[in-house]
Amino acid sequence: MRKKIVAGNWKMNLNFTEAEELAASLAEKLEGKALKCEVVICPPALYLEMATDFAEESVIKVGAQNVSNQESGAYTGEIAAGMLASIDVEYCLVGHSERRKYYHENNAFLAQKVDKLLDNDLIPVYCCGEQLEEREKENHFAIVEQQISEGLFHLNTEEFYNVVIAYEPVWAIGTGVTASSEQAQEMHAFIRSLVAKKYGADLAAEITILYGGSCNPKNAKELFSQSDVDGGLIGGASLKADDFVTIINSF
Ligand code: PEP
Repeated sequence: MRKKIVAGNWKMNLNFTEAEELAASLAEKLEGKALKCEVVICPPALYLEMATDFAEESVIKVGAQNVSNQESGAYTGEIAAGMLASIDVEYCLVGHSERRKYYHENNAFLAQKVDKLLDNDLIPVYCCGEQLEEREKENHFAIVEQQISEGLFHLNTEEFYNVVIAYEPVWAIGTGVTASSEQAQEMHAFIRSLVAKKYGADLAAEITILYGGSCNPKNAKELFSQSDVDGGLIGGASLKADDFVTIINSF
């Protein structure tokens, strides 16, 4: 059975004390609980080591929100995949729509980040998703296909096993407007079919595909009940321990 994941993207929120309190509260609420999914938190880079310290003592795993496309060297302000690996970070978001929009990251550039993460045994959580105008023009399948093929389909089969995909329709991120469970299922099934066409049905059946976009304690159960939705990438609701735990318990 493929891995279910609930990952929290804290984005650029919380001061250090608040971040530490949130990590501690989550660790406490999850302690000793039989979970049906892996739990990942993605705090700002400055707090990653604090988070991996908590993770050592709990079920929580840690992801970064971003990584450099370069190995090391004169790239001021950047953080290399090898640095993340050296403090036991296990996951990293790649191509979140905010990175695509505000930092102009395109699919070819994101493909380089994916490579650096895999080279360092980190799991890329590759984000894709259409904008509202693209859905209104019924271009959403083509856009997602392009994002996935240009960002991921250079990988070989063995590498692709270590990738997680997050479908996040841009119009649903931070807006309070969630994709319906039918819309999410339809796109997730489409993504799985793309993977099957390229890598075969066995690998496609193993790949974890998360939904992201205004997922909250009220709608998570319905979304996660869809056969091709393997969990969620959660923004706003991951900043409140109780809400995040309710989402984690929604399988
Ligand atoms: C996100 O930023 O990945 C996200 C899904 O945000 P939100 O849950 O706040 O829509």
